[in-house]
Amino acid sequence: MSTFADIILPVAIPRLFTYSIPDEIADSVKVGSRVVVSFGKKKFYSGVVYRIHDTKPEEYDVKPITSVVDSNPVVRLSQLELWRWISEYYVSTLGEVYRAALPSGLKLESETRIIYNAHFETDDKLSDKEYKIIDFMSDKKVCSISDLSQAITDFNVIPVLKLLIDKSALFVNEEIKESYKALSEKFYSLAPSCRKEAVLGLKFDQLERAPRQLETLMALLTKLGGLGKAILGASVSRTELMKQPGVQTAALLELVKKGIIEQSDQEVSRLGSVETTDQEANTLSEIQASAYSGIKKSFENHDITLLHGVTSSGKTEIYIHLINQYIEQGKQVLYLLPEIALTTQITSRLRKHFGNRLGIYHSKFSDAERVEVWNNMLGNSGFRVILGVRSSIFLPFESLGLIIIDEEHENSFKQFDPAPRYHARDAAMMLGRIHGAKVLLGTATPSVETYHNAVSGRYGLVELLTRHEGIQMPHIVPVDIKEARRKKQMKSIFSPQLIEAMHTSVAKGEQVILFQNRRGFAPFVECGQCAWVPKCKHCDVSMTYHKNQNQLVCHYCSYSYALPDTCHACGSPALETKGYGTEKIEEEVKVVFPDARVARLDLDTARSRKAFEKIINDFEEHNLDILIGTQMISKGLDFDRVSVVGILNADNMLNYPDFRAFERSYQMMAQVSGRAGRKNKQGLVILQTSDTNHPVIKDVVTNDFMSQFNQQIAERQLFKYPPFYRLINITVKHKDTHTNKKAATMLATRLRAIFGDRVLGPQEPPITRIATYFLQRIILKIEKQ
Ligand code: ADP
Ligand code: ZN
Ligand code: ZN
Repeated sequence: MSTFADIILPVAIPRLFTYSIPDEIADSVKVGSRVVVSFGKKKFYSGVVYRIHDTKPEEYDVKPITSVVDSNPVVRLSQLELWRWISEYYVSTLGEVYRAALPSGLKLESETRIIYNAHFETDDKLSDKEYKIIDFMSDKKVCSISDLSQAITDFNVIPVLKLLIDKSALFVNEEIKESYKALSEKFYSLAPSCRKEAVLGLKFDQLERAPRQLETLMALLTKLGGLGKAILGASVSRTELMKQPGVQTAALLELVKKGIIEQSDQEVSRLGSVETTDQEANTLSEIQASAYSGIKKSFENHDITLLHGVTSSGKTEIYIHLINQYIEQGKQVLYLLPEIALTTQITSRLRKHFGNRLGIYHSKFSDAERVEVWNNMLGNSGFRVILGVRSSIFLPFESLGLIIIDEEHENSFKQFDPAPRYHARDAAMMLGRIHGAKVLLGTATPSVETYHNAVSGRYGLVELLTRHEGIQMPHIVPVDIKEARRKKQMKSIFSPQLIEAMHTSVAKGEQVILFQNRRGFAPFVECGQCAWVPKCKHCDVSMTYHKNQNQLVCHYCSYSYALPDTCHACGSPALETKGYGTEKIEEEVKVVFPDARVARLDLDTARSRKAFEKIINDFEEHNLDILIGTQMISKGLDFDRVSVVGILNADNMLNYPDFRAFERSYQMMAQVSGRAGRKNKQGLVILQTSDTNHPVIKDVVTNDFMSQFNQQIAERQLFKYPPFYRLINITVKHKDTHTNKKAATMLATRLRAIFGDRVLGPQEPPITRIATYFLQRIILKIEKQ
């Protein structure tokens, strides 16, 4: 007899909470079900059942579960297993993992905002409780659940809210408002008992004295396409039916009541229905085919395999062949990408082959759409292929067979804030293990950790080192800008070599990409008289100048104000911009190439998915000659007419204070260089730097991945970094710098008592204050064993 349930609640307390299961709902409380429980004063949460048992907790009085939200669990056992691993490995609570895992439409918390749907209509009678909430909300429009439960105290609002949300009377969170389409619609058909001409004839006779009903029934039959179709069970949506002359609502309801017309709710997909096109995959070239069979062979004795394939070698083509193979076996495939930015191009490539068997899941989608993908996956015939960013590892897969992690080296697989601070690549490997699925890592520039695992035999390794159709790797020319400046050859930020290459390219109708890893106009502003630099009020960083808005903006906390006319320290009007970001590059390019069509792709110009897609499309369709961008353009995008890539300044990447700075710089430069080159023509990359002898620059120029890797791996071993050691980074923050220092010192001392010299710090990080909090950093280096 199991009478207690341990519940995961979305709170940052490292434990589960036990509630008793009332008899009335005992049948529907299952592991993975959502239940509503009261927690603390006047707070209700929906939580997920983790375990059911019959051990009464000793230390406190158990409260009963208030209600069950779903008739079937929304979380599978395999998901809970992943949650547990993440919470343990990334030192976070199950509640935090639950928060990250479920789309907000599936979580109801006291802080959740509820929005009134002004277009709500229903034929069903609302209960008194529902009516009371609707009444309140029609006045309020938007309200948090906790405010609502304070206003309505005579019953628990959460279970009722759930009903109203299901009826689309209310929405969760604002984002749903914009993209909302009816979730389910009423459909009408002839009732099954009347789908015989004889029976129907009788009904017609009975309706003789109800002309409106007769008229409405005739109108339905017409709309269904005639009697024949109606008898076969055709149905029509309410919206469509109402367009038919002669249909009257009251009469329709009456007919439903009499059992002549059947009314049903049918899901109308927000995801839109897409025609399955089922286009055949391209035939693989000989080299690609041997990589493909290499992968299959490697999977025989390695669950995880790395496909190290240079840019444009056809990795994506190989993925498509693999996906086909797995879905033919009835398995699901997860295709992970590091960033939303990348999904646009891949989506259309995958759509062609997998049609509506493909589901897309990422945060730029509205919450309602994400809930729909989730629910689709809960069914037994859910999407076969999911293309998504890191949060898609949390979807309810049923029979996962393969996980592809594209651009495996990318940093954005890691979630930094808030907890759980998980790395989706590593968590996906655990997901694979739970399902017994194979994992394929793909990239042109493997991370040091992954390549180390591959060469040491832990992962399988397949290499594909030539581009498709023998397109050559780009020719990379380093240009010493220090020297060029000394000789006064620089035209503002462009070396003569870069200007010439751009001229040639634009003149031939080819395209140019310029890369600078800094947005804004100038990273800082300085007084020409006294060298005063405007800094952020809340952070220890200089303000970045954005010329377009004439604002100084903090890139850490978004604080901004207008550029002052005079120096705040000495009053001089001689404020000068220093350094340059993408905005300034754009301005200068327009001066040097007044006739070229120029666009910029960075966080400022591509705030929305639409804006991003427009720029990419314009570039793909050759409506642009020159594209300037941050690392956003360095990733996986495939353009066919780029002949020149300019890297404007490699130095600030290399000087970034992080043990992975060299690795990242190599990856970024190799990736952005990979955008250059097309059929029958080698691409040209101009790499501007003040240190042409830097080992990383040399490796980029010679495309020597191995040299870069060997250098890095030796340093990692020598200085005790991953993959040889595990790093734990603890940030201590407080608004008072002395308190913070004291706390950090105390924590470090106590850690040292246990971990000895594995504890480093506390230290001030390079940026000592962010968003009014002073920071101290403690690092633990733990041996792998
Ligand atoms: P990667 O993923 O390694 O960067 P892609 O798969 O994007 O490489 O291939 C680069 C380009 O070459 C794409 O436009 C792709 O359609 C084309 N391509 C690669 N392999 C083939 C093939 N076997 N048949 C037809 N086109 C191919
Ligand atoms: Zn000054
Ligand atoms: Zn700031």
